Amino acid sequence: MNFFDIKQEIISFSKIIGIDLIGFAKAQPFFKEYDFLLERKRKGLISPFEEEDLEKRCFPEKIMNGVRTIIVFAVSYLNYYNSSLLFTENNIEVNNKRGIISKYACILDYHLVLKGKLSKIALFIKNNFNANAMVFVDTGSLLERAAAKRAGIGYIGQNTCLFTKEFGSYVFLGEILTDLELPEDEQAESLCTGCGRCIKACPTGALYEPFKINPFKCLSYITQSKNVITDKEIIHAFGNRLFGCDTCQDVCPNNRKENLIIKNHGDFLLDNNIPLDPLYILNIKNKEFEGYFGKTPIAWRGRNVLRRNALIVMANTGQLKEVNKEILLDLSELVRKQAEVLFK
Ligand code: SF4
Ligand code: SF4
Repeated sequence: MNFFDIKQEIISFSKIIGIDLIGFAKAQPFFKEYDFLLERKRKGLISPFEEEDLEKRCFPEKIMNGVRTIIVFAVSYLNYYNSSLLFTENNIEVNNKRGIISKYACILDYHLVLKGKLSKIALFIKNNFNANAMVFVDTGSLLERAAAKRAGIGYIGQNTCLFTKEFGSYVFLGEILTDLELPEDEQAESLCTGCGRCIKACPTGALYEPFKINPFKCLSYITQSKNVITDKEIIHAFGNRLFGCDTCQDVCPNNRKENLIIKNHGDFLLDNNIPLDPLYILNIKNKEFEGYFGKTPIAWRGRNVLRRNALIVMANTGQLKEVNKEILLDLSELVRKQAEVLFK
């Protein structure tokens, strides 16, 4: 079988198991990105969620001996439930006492879903083509957006997100490294017009220049951190975000609903809609947290991070008076200390 046929077989199998987009790229080093990351490291802009070893991120050979090709997979995560959250203003609405959760976080954890699919494809490659294949899903050890761009999956917008033409930026990415030499795909044309809406809409100024982000100012990172938030501007910028932030994606004209295909993949759907009432979340018990959030990406940050965020949302939406002062004696140090800051 020639390499064009092998590529086609991998594409066909991937489509059967629910992959939306597949691209192939040469596993050459990412030299330009390496320089960019070195500069970020010098400026202290690498977040703890990222792989510290920059060589591992930019030189695929450091991860797999003899690697020839990076296969990049994208799966759309918009469904009928979370797409109803599209195009809402994420800032505080006076009458909105509910919180909001980032669209990727109010569905089944993508690590579980995507890893399952990619493991099947890796097995398919190993069994049928006698080749090595290694799966990566958000491990931080490979520059996935750069790989996706090189593989023709999409382009990078000024908000640093990877956009696909079909599903906008609401996609999960995963990769397989293989020692098979497969024909590469052409890069996609960029549809980012440089309109700057994403940068203007960012509530914290985390997007400090086109294509440049300070993760420590980004609410997507901050809402997941385990720190007490003391900066008043950041507390205010939280608005009613209970977890994550989609603002710089939601405002992009290329993410308008009429331009997107809503795939509604069943594998991302939870049994129940998740609660958005911050008071309920603040008082949520372990068992309820497990029941509602145990299978979402929120679970790995834990119950008290979400409770800390709920407290901030209550402060920002004029509901702090409904919080029992016993919160100042809460068993969680994070929640207790956050309450001290907000009640001061
Ligand atoms: S996710 Fe939110 S805070 Fe982070 S860069 Fe985008 S708009 Fe700014
Ligand atoms: S909002 Fe404008 S500048 Fe930002 S990513 Fe979209 S098209 Fe590009």
